[in-house]
Amino acid sequence: MSAPTRVAVAVETPQHAGLGDLLDYESTLTLAPGTLVRAPLGRREVPGLVWHRASARAAEAGQLRPLVEALVSLPPLDGAWRRLVDFAAAYYQRSTGELALSVLPPELRKLDERQLARRIARLQREAQEAAAARANLPGVAGAPALSEEQAAALAEFGADPRPTLLHGVTGSGKTEVYLNAAARALEAGRQALVLVPEINLTPQLEARFAARFPGRCLASLHSALTPAQRLRHWLLAHLGLADLILGTRLAVFASLPRLGLVVVDEEHDPSFKQQEGARYSARDLAVWRARDAKIPVLLGSATPSLETWQRVQEGRYRQLVLSARIGGGALPRVRVFDMAQVPKQAGAPAPALAPPLLQALRDRLERGEQSLLLLNRRGYAPVLECGACGWKSGCPHCSAWRVFHKADRSLRCHHCGFSERVPRACPECGNLDIAPVGRGTEKLEEQLGVLLPGARIARIDADSTRVRGALEARLAAVHAGEVDVLVGTQMVAKGHDFRRITLVAAVNPDAALFANDFRAPERLFALLMQAAGRAGRSAEQAARSEMWIQTGHPRHALFAALAAGDFAAFAASQLAERRSAGLPPFSHLALLRADAKSAAVASAFLAEAAELAGEEPAITVYAPVPPAVAKVADVERMQMLVESVSRPALQRFLGAWLPQLHGLRARHRGLLRWAVDVDPLTI
Ligand code: ADP
Ligand code: ZN
Ligand code: ZN
Repeated sequence: MSAPTRVAVAVETPQHAGLGDLLDYESTLTLAPGTLVRAPLGRREVPGLVWHRASARAAEAGQLRPLVEALVSLPPLDGAWRRLVDFAAAYYQRSTGELALSVLPPELRKLDERQLARRIARLQREAQEAAAARANLPGVAGAPALSEEQAAALAEFGADPRPTLLHGVTGSGKTEVYLNAAARALEAGRQALVLVPEINLTPQLEARFAARFPGRCLASLHSALTPAQRLRHWLLAHLGLADLILGTRLAVFASLPRLGLVVVDEEHDPSFKQQEGARYSARDLAVWRARDAKIPVLLGSATPSLETWQRVQEGRYRQLVLSARIGGGALPRVRVFDMAQVPKQAGAPAPALAPPLLQALRDRLERGEQSLLLLNRRGYAPVLECGACGWKSGCPHCSAWRVFHKADRSLRCHHCGFSERVPRACPECGNLDIAPVGRGTEKLEEQLGVLLPGARIARIDADSTRVRGALEARLAAVHAGEVDVLVGTQMVAKGHDFRRITLVAAVNPDAALFANDFRAPERLFALLMQAAGRAGRSAEQAARSEMWIQTGHPRHALFAALAAGDFAAFAASQLAERRSAGLPPFSHLALLRADAKSAAVASAFLAEAAELAGEEPAITVYAPVPPAVAKVADVERMQMLVESVSRPALQRFLGAWLPQLHGLRARHRGLLRWAVDVDPLTI
């Protein structure tokens, strides 16, 4: 037996434990960095990864605790993967071990060395058999001849080391470009990683990749997999057996020994940002990872994020454009309808649909075409109100109204889930006349039933698709032509390839025009473009396709840019505003959030944190403010914005400042937790 050696291990300790990033242990084995181990920590045993051989500062061997077990049958996680984790941990201000272990499949920690060795042997055997079977299959199947634009994009892609934005509307053939780029990577013996924003979008993409590359091993990584599936797919990627890896944001951390291409589809989508724990942006990490590995990265979107767009303007990213829809389709003609023109009846609420829009819906019905109505608010009505005393259906646990759901006659809070049966009378004054105010998808569906007798109406939102399989069933009905009018939230706007829709209407998009969040217009524009993309997929349909916008602000620049189909104009005006206001991408933000039993405690913590920050040139620390919904589930929340024009300065500042806050916590009784969000998407 050889003398024990020292190793530095990334173990799963939360940063606030104050134990530092890596802990030293001893081992009688010579362990390569990246080896999965089990290490003693206090009285527990925790999983860890050998990060590197211990530094000279470490205590003498013999004083260190020995590792419990090393899982040497699992090939070590390679240097590229560890660099990614090191970067992400430092950038998003988490401990290395916490981040590293949180992005590995949870199942991995449950297996011992023998079980793991057996799993790996089985996967390798299966892969060998599959590879033998593939020898008789074509490498690529069913690839159409590329359009001129697609061919030009592909020729240029890869000829330039910069990250590439592939800018093209829905149906312009972006996915076809991804498939061709992937074919190139596979041919060179490399793996291709494709990230999509939503789990719902993975099955159709998987089917397309599987059909194009017959017999190739495809791994998918997203949170809807069972733990066993997730382990299996992760191992396929890590062992280099899978050639194609498709997944949602967590897939950016897949271990990929032969990575040759990264694709981020719908790169602007907020779902790429993780909203708890390490709040990483999978899109940004994908770009970092590709640059580190010196491989090409392709960001696809019809409405790129303004961060990406600005980098294109600065020449740091390159842009490839697909300007036309495949098959001669075009985006629908946009009709911005001024709701002020709808005659008001005294005492009656405004109608859901302007009479000309209703007529347009009837025309579609007569012609046997489909319509899509977008209303980004689920439930029947956002609030109930008493006409006598002014009582409103507030949530007792949140600073928010409870939403009226008529289907199950409940008042439900969309923030904490608190739900009760609708009271028969006002809880304050006993008045029987309590009425819904405003309109959600449920009510719109009901009203459409009255306005369009005989029409087949379907609703797609988080409520109507809660049951497993419900979404697929509804989408299938739409595709089969069994639905005339589809009502839904943003869920329906994304990705689905509807063939018969010739009318899309945004029923009430105005709230986002004046929201506090400076990214609200950007998100609205993306949503409306995406919704517009559901119509007019063929030339023949495009001629009849329309998108209606019902608004009280018909002259708003956002709608003008949408009507002109001019993303560049919209982006330029938004970026000009951002530049003059000193907002991203012209500055860099971090948000310190504090949750407490009272707002006073949360504020006091943030105030003391601000004091510790001191006066830093290049750094601005703003006063604590409550977020849009201050109280959720009886927890009071406050937040404090930190801003700098220099990303490195902000990083240096956070790295020095945040460790001091760990000690602060004990002094603020009632403080529940704090967290930092670097590059927050909502403020
Ligand atoms: P996007 O990803 O931009 O929405 P897709 O790549 O899905 O666009 O293309 C839209 C439709 O056009 C798909 O049905 C696709 O199969 C088809 N398509 C794409 N490129 C071609 C091509 N070069 N020739 C024929 N059909 C194509
Ligand atoms: Zn009342
Ligand atoms: Zn609530």
